[in-house]
Amino acid sequence: MPRFAYVDGQFIRHRDATIHVEDRGLQFGDAVYEVWAVRKGVLFDTSGHLARLARSLAALRIPAPMSDQSLMVVIRELMARNRLKDGLVYLQISRGTARRDHPFPARVVPSLILTARSMPTGPADTRAALGISVQTCPDNRWGRVDIKTVNLLPNVLAKQAALEAGFADAWFVDDQDMVTEGTAQNAWILDSSGVLRTRPATQAILRGITRDTIIKTAQSLGYRFEEKAFSRGEAYEAQEAFITSATSFVTPVITIDNHPIGTGRPGDIARKLRETYLDQQTSVKNPS
Ligand code: PLP
Repeated sequence: MPRFAYVDGQFIRHRDATIHVEDRGLQFGDAVYEVWAVRKGVLFDTSGHLARLARSLAALRIPAPMSDQSLMVVIRELMARNRLKDGLVYLQISRGTARRDHPFPARVVPSLILTARSMPTGPADTRAALGISVQTCPDNRWGRVDIKTVNLLPNVLAKQAALEAGFADAWFVDDQDMVTEGTAQNAWILDSSGVLRTRPATQAILRGITRDTIIKTAQSLGYRFEEKAFSRGEAYEAQEAFITSATSFVTPVITIDNHPIGTGRPGDIARKLRETYLDQQTSVKNPS
């Protein structure tokens, strides 16, 4: 079955989907993006991702290329054309195409691209069942990682270094030795006194949409929770650790820098949060 992408107003074959050589996203990283998980044909956390997209666009002063309602029509059409049941929808909006020059161009039309990707659920579910290992590394990113821009080179390099060292992923640590977040996920622990903790949503992290939903899930389950940064040492001593993101949902971390976390096996709270999150999301009907 052919795969389709959406580029600036047209659905086209994925393999023929291209952007201009002077797209500002390509030349300057002058672009924002979003990723939605899809399971059982349901788009997860729809409104949260739309709200963050609006915030990212406003931060870069890129006008929205279309209303949220129109965007949802396009996303649903893309999902239908790709017969997307399990996988993800990727969106990127750049400032547009203009002769290469640093200042914002006077007249430019934002460029919108969307892709859909089917992914079997097995590998992600297996990772969650077994837990993953992470290594820590210095957070060398720019000061506005709260904006979801495509400037992901430090994240790419940290992920690659982790894989080459035999870990599944990396957690960034700031110059106070406090964990900021993962390369593409928010970082959480169940600390040694039994409190769930994740870093407050300042400019030092991307405020994950999954993170926000999991905070509500944790509270609804009656877990003790604090939005409070934790150090690398506190993470080593934690009872549980896990990551949250649109692509990993909730995935337990069982070792950090080779220190086993808790029992060294996925924790009960991470498992319960994942199950509850998936149940809640897949029981939400997509608005037609
Ligand atoms: N932090 C970073 C750096 C990310 O890139 C992502 C997702 O791409 C997240 C956190 C998690 O965000 P979300 O839950 O919205 O996927």
